[in-house]
Amino acid sequence: MVALGTPLKHALGDKTAKALAAGLDLHTVEDLLRHYPRRYAQRGELTDLSHLPLDEQVTVVAKVSAVQSRPMRQRRGTLLEVTVTDGHGTLKLTFFNQAWRQRDLQVGRHGLFAGKVGVFNGVRQLTHPDYQIIEDRPTVDVKAFADQLIPVYPASAAMASWSIAQSVRIILDTLDPLIEPLPDELRERRGLLGLSESFRRIHRPADRDDVRRAQDRLRFDEAFGLQVILAQRRAWAAAQPATPRVAAPGGLLASFDARLPFTLTAGQQDVAATLTADLARPHPMHRLLQGEVGSGKTVVALRAMLAVVDAGGQAALLAPTEVLAQQHHRSVTAMLGPLAERGLLGGAEGGTRVALLTGSQPAAVRRRMLLDIASGEAGIVIGTHALIQDTVDFFDLGLVVVDEQHRFGVEQRDALRSKSETPPHLLVMTATPIPRTVAMTVFGDLDVSTLTELPLGRTPITTHVVPSGEKPHFLERAWERVREEVAAGHQAYVVCPRIGATDGDPDGAGESVAEDEDEGDGGRRPAVAVLEVADLLADGPMSGLRLAVLHGRLAPDEKDDVMRRFAAGDIDVLVATTIIEVGVDVANATAMVVLDADRFGVSQLHQLRGRIGRGSAPGLCLLVTEAPEGTPSRERLDAVAATLDGFELSRVDLAQRREGDVLGASQSGRRSSLKLLAVIRDEDLIVDARSEAERLVADDPDLNRHLGLRSSLAALVDPDRAGYLEKA
Ligand code: ADP
Ligand code: MG
Repeated sequence: MVALGTPLKHALGDKTAKALAAGLDLHTVEDLLRHYPRRYAQRGELTDLSHLPLDEQVTVVAKVSAVQSRPMRQRRGTLLEVTVTDGHGTLKLTFFNQAWRQRDLQVGRHGLFAGKVGVFNGVRQLTHPDYQIIEDRPTVDVKAFADQLIPVYPASAAMASWSIAQSVRIILDTLDPLIEPLPDELRERRGLLGLSESFRRIHRPADRDDVRRAQDRLRFDEAFGLQVILAQRRAWAAAQPATPRVAAPGGLLASFDARLPFTLTAGQQDVAATLTADLARPHPMHRLLQGEVGSGKTVVALRAMLAVVDAGGQAALLAPTEVLAQQHHRSVTAMLGPLAERGLLGGAEGGTRVALLTGSQPAAVRRRMLLDIASGEAGIVIGTHALIQDTVDFFDLGLVVVDEQHRFGVEQRDALRSKSETPPHLLVMTATPIPRTVAMTVFGDLDVSTLTELPLGRTPITTHVVPSGEKPHFLERAWERVREEVAAGHQAYVVCPRIGATDGDPDGAGESVAEDEDEGDGGRRPAVAVLEVADLLADGPMSGLRLAVLHGRLAPDEKDDVMRRFAAGDIDVLVATTIIEVGVDVANATAMVVLDADRFGVSQLHQLRGRIGRGSAPGLCLLVTEAPEGTPSRERLDAVAATLDGFELSRVDLAQRREGDVLGASQSGRRSSLKLLAVIRDEDLIVDARSEAERLVADDPDLNRHLGLRSSLAALVDPDRAGYLEKA
């Protein structure tokens, strides 16, 4: 008898186990049982042969339509040529010196045929084909025989689909009774099959209904397992002690609110109230704040930071790049005005100080900042990951705000949190819209708040795709539009995928290189580069305008200088890499031209576009591409042009990826445990599973009364896999 954990080599013998391990990465009985059929073939139902992918291992159900055996021309021996058909198209199978196979492969017979799809003399064929004839005579019940489904598995060259089916059959016949991980009450209430039953039906279904019910159950397991783990994490985090931070009335926060030149939107007020409540609890806040670029997250976060300062603590704001840290420092200082000038002439009574800490500061400045941080003089500390170095000592760190978490690892967050005796509260901000289900899975251990409305007075951005390949004069028109914006007193960005000249890697200062750099792919020209484009523009379409470049190879103070001058309106056109992707906030910039736009991802383009239209003047975004109409690249650009809704776009983005990628499993190189669950498609299921999981964990946090579930989850969260949940 075998159990789920039994190695396949004990269950099936060395040879089969090796074949399953080599091509399919299956090692245990459970791995094999969870290697579900890709689809099911029905007798008499043939595979459409017209869409088979070239050079891939396929399994098709087809009918033998012709058989011919003849002596070979060049060599001794016979050649057996078998043609199979789906009723329309055909596929050829060739066997050398295996004329005896004619006994199996008779015209009119159905079979499963497997091999790699190739083309020989213009005719499609399966190379090294392998096959299994489907019995054409019922042994028992005629009806049952005709209906029976044949599982078709993801197969490998070493292991054909029917060999996998055979192995699964052996396992199912020798499987010990399984411990049911789902609580009976839950299973019955939701009408889910038992686990053993589900394995049996998904691998050896009698009919389509079997398949559906088995998939329902196994898909629920995936959603539920993940949600129980996340619920446990939330419960654990929520049980940690933290210092409640309640703003003293009439303090900094109140003065700040009085200074604000606008009123908070209803959404901002909601989130603000949530944060106030979170911060008042004796357990750490653990919250994700998402909202479109420009939706006003930073203001809300700053208010939370001020509340903590009012309560006698410090707040740190972590930015992913120096440019952003500097910019945050500038804008926070400006928003606070005299409130940030404690101890200075004109500084407000009861004000604080805002320290900036970056890796490139002169030693003396840095020392002064460190002192302010350690003494508590600086209530607000803004910085890059330099902030989490050992040498940085906080007086009393109460809140950590992480801006654009995508570039910050969990380890870094934890390192910063460890700078306080009790864990500080944590607020993670992201402008990359995350569909609800992804928030519930990938970010499932954070509570989520969303800012959906943009502050009033914003004029929407218009986006156009400029097909420079098909219509070169469109590009000229694009440059004219930029000149018009500048003539009207506005500013513009020109974004390029590369820096140029001796383009090495960008320096990691926040530039994500456009999706493909095309190295070694002789087919495409290299993407356009900042330095070259800047020269071309200066001597051509932009001559006479004040141009500057911004990219990761500039020294930090040069970058800061360029950003300052751009913010001050002393630069008309900024030619830049994606270094401007996040957070750069210059309201007077109204136009953006993205060159080789097809080299960027959907969400990246959306982020870039968020740099314009931040003021009251309408924004114009031009996506220049040579990608021909109808290609996937062009469709992505059309999608970006068609909507400003980041949530919609993140769905487009996700729809193009495999689910495993969504959960980061592909990064760790490990198979995803989510086989049936589709994060986008199964939204309802995930929502249900989450509430079931919350209920269960609230009732039995350590799963002491659900041992079956506990052990099945333990297998899920081996050290490797714990990482994937955290690699948000
Ligand atoms: P985010 O961080 O979400 O990108 P910010 O907080 O930086 O957004 O806000 C973008 C701009 O909008 C800033 O200049 C900010 O001062 C302004 N802003 C924020 N909230 C409001 C509001 N309620 N009304 C008007 N302007 C606002
Ligand atoms: Mg911001």
